Amino acid sequence: MSSAFAHKKIIVITAPSGSGKTTLVKRLLAATNKVTFSISACTRKPRAGETDGVDYYFLDEADFRQKIDEDAFVEWEMVYAGKYYGTLKTELERIWASGRYPLVDIDVMGALAVMNKYHEQCLTVFIQAPSIEELRQRLITRGTETEQTLEERVKKADFELGYAHQFQKVIINDNLEVAANELKETISDFINGL
Ligand code: 5GP
Repeated sequence: MSSAFAHKKIIVITAPSGSGKTTLVKRLLAATNKVTFSISACTRKPRAGETDGVDYYFLDEADFRQKIDEDAFVEWEMVYAGKYYGTLKTELERIWASGRYPLVDIDVMGALAVMNKYHEQCLTVFIQAPSIEELRQRLITRGTETEQTLEERVKKADFELGYAHQFQKVIINDNLEVAANELKETISDFINGL
């Protein structure tokens, strides 16, 4: 990495729904003050317990489309049918300006887009559930999906698995403690090592 980018590193995490990503990311953020969660914009409705401006910037579709027109996104995707998600340029700038590094938690296509744009600055991590069946069980246990959205998420996870080898680091979340440590060490090496 050239020194011009040294203060603008990005940590990109992709983890299919049900891979245990939220828990891992929360642990990581609690363990370091150098990394800040990059809050994405999205058009899905907040789940119980989610807060606007904390978990996501929850936008309606018209506002999201306006931001696309204004070129406000680093990347955006229709991640699920009719549901848009995107990383705002202002969000990365906000975090860099605070002297920290953004942790961008996005889907595979979004991750590839960020890699293409910022490849010199990126660490890319793929978090994998031990199996698709385990992932399906975790989603059922979480209880946030209908039968249809569950199938959509499982299908997407299966598709995303095919891209895991393009990431610099793949972490299999079989044992939470082990995976959490692996993630912490990988990120710490990236932050300190460059
Ligand atoms: P959820 O609806 O479960 O919060 O997230 C669904 C998916 O959207 C996850 O795979 C998550 O990584 C992805 N996602 C969240 N924010 C973004 C974003 O800004 N851009 C892209 N491309 N995907 C995102």
